[in-house]
Amino acid sequence: MSEAIDTIPATPGAGGLAALEVRLRQDLAWLELPAKSWMPATTVDGNPVLDVAIIGGGQAGMAAAVSLLHLGVNAVIYDQSPAGFEGPWATTARMETLRSPKKLTGPALGFAALTFRAWFEAQFGLDEWEALDKIPRLQWMDYLRWYRKVMALDVRNDHRVGAIVPRADGVVELHIEAPAGKSVVLARRVVVATGRDGLGGAYLPPLAQSLPRELWAHSSDDMDYGKLAGKRVGVIGAGASSMDSAATALEAGAARVDLLIRRRELPRINKGKGAGNPGLTNGHLHLPDEWKWRIRHYVNVQQTPPPGGSVQRVAKFPNARFLFGAAIDKVEVNADGLRVTTPRGVFDLDFLIFSTGFRIDWTVRPEFATIAPHIRNWRSRYMPPLGDEDMELSDSPDLGPVFEFQQKHPGSLPGLERVHCFCYPAALSHGTLSGDIPAISDGAQRLAQGIAALFYGEDVEFHYANIQAYAEPELVGDEWTPSEPTEAERAALGAGAGR
Ligand SMILES: Cc1cc2nc3c(=O)[nH]c(=O)nc-3n(C[C@H](O)[C@H](O)[C@H](O)COP(=O)(O)OP(=O)(O)OC[C@H]3O[C@@H](n4cnc5c(N)ncnc54)[C@H](O)[C@@H]3O)c2cc1C
Repeated sequence: MSEAIDTIPATPGAGGLAALEVRLRQDLAWLELPAKSWMPATTVDGNPVLDVAIIGGGQAGMAAAVSLLHLGVNAVIYDQSPAGFEGPWATTARMETLRSPKKLTGPALGFAALTFRAWFEAQFGLDEWEALDKIPRLQWMDYLRWYRKVMALDVRNDHRVGAIVPRADGVVELHIEAPAGKSVVLARRVVVATGRDGLGGAYLPPLAQSLPRELWAHSSDDMDYGKLAGKRVGVIGAGASSMDSAATALEAGAARVDLLIRRRELPRINKGKGAGNPGLTNGHLHLPDEWKWRIRHYVNVQQTPPPGGSVQRVAKFPNARFLFGAAIDKVEVNADGLRVTTPRGVFDLDFLIFSTGFRIDWTVRPEFATIAPHIRNWRSRYMPPLGDEDMELSDSPDLGPVFEFQQKHPGSLPGLERVHCFCYPAALSHGTLSGDIPAISDGAQRLAQGIAALFYGEDVEFHYANIQAYAEPELVGDEWTPSEPTEAERAALGAGAGR
């Protein structure tokens, strides 16, 4: 039973949200946030240079921006999506609710008035909060829209970063495509907050390449599921997204949905959730390589179960089938559609959905073409014990302590270290601090504090000159009058001099 909190308005509603915003502003004012500006204004050849440019305006990019701004470092966010449609929530995601427990404080960065709960209670009240089971997906997006508004973030939507080009002179070029045309922006540092598939895209088994594109989709594709009405649909995979795709197809009127699952049963325990604690959040970065690998590999192998509600959403349909031990051996195209051969039988289908997750794949992300060949990954850093090989982990970038990329061959791309990887593939180096709700604030603060420290070191001559030039007196000289020693004190000095 939660206790009532007397600072939350008794009559929730639109007024409740306004009152919450007043409180948030007050909290920030009491904490003297944001910090005063202390960064030197930078120009190169007369062109202004941003302190930090962030690619991606999802929860990670926004939490990073707030953390930087609060430290007095300017940050501009570029996102290719239209305003309010950043990330998967209101675009490609199909679950009814978030998996994350409602009480996680997500990107709130330690400000109680910035939490989802505060936002929710301010509008709907404490009783509704207690009645809420999981956070509805679109409501999370609404919260993120509010977050952006109240933190007054500078987000440039419909701006796609087409290339990231580090330079040896201490700046990084971002080549941007926007409705107004193409432009080049210069920034001293760049944060890549591009999401769950942030360094790649959908993982597809090789057999997908040989199938006609109109007969299959990946679960992360932006697709109108209405076209599956009356169709026999196969969904490959057993994770959360496969349940969401299957349920959406069934709700859209699919004649039949077959979940083709390689495993003999669904995983039941969410090891990633069990692993989370402040020790991991703060300690993973400092673990020896062997332990980093061991923990991440174990969580990967165990696999994350789909949420119970998502499984039930599918299971309630009589025309849904959970077919275990049904790894795909072969898919043939015939006049009737697709014929899928598995050890459990042969299935005739009209459409296949690959719910096969994501992978790091530089080739599908042209914006990384300049930097990708120079990025050091874990394959170059660590050889796992036999049997513990893991493609996701080998492909992961080997990041420095501020999430910065490192050069595979030192000197091959000077300035690469000015690009910071704040998306899911940072997990092996830093722990899961760079995308998921539970520890996103911790990750953003680590990133921002590290960047502020790097700036200070780079600009130390500027700051030293500032210290020297600093001339604000705290005493003007009239606060005291010099005193004279007594006669005896002066005489004692003379007597002592002879000893
Ligand atoms: C279906 C789904 C459900 C999930 N559910 C949960 C959950 O319940 N709990 C949880 O903790 N996590 C969940 N996650 C994982 C994670 O929290 C989300 O992926 C979350 O959106 C990550 O936030 P982000 O800011 O890192 O990335 P995103 O929200 O994906 O934002 C990245 C942004 O980068 C932009 N971008 C990418 N490339 C460029 C470019 N070149 N130029 C300009 N902009 C670019 C994109 O447009 C996007 O808006 C889920 C993920 C998915 C896919």
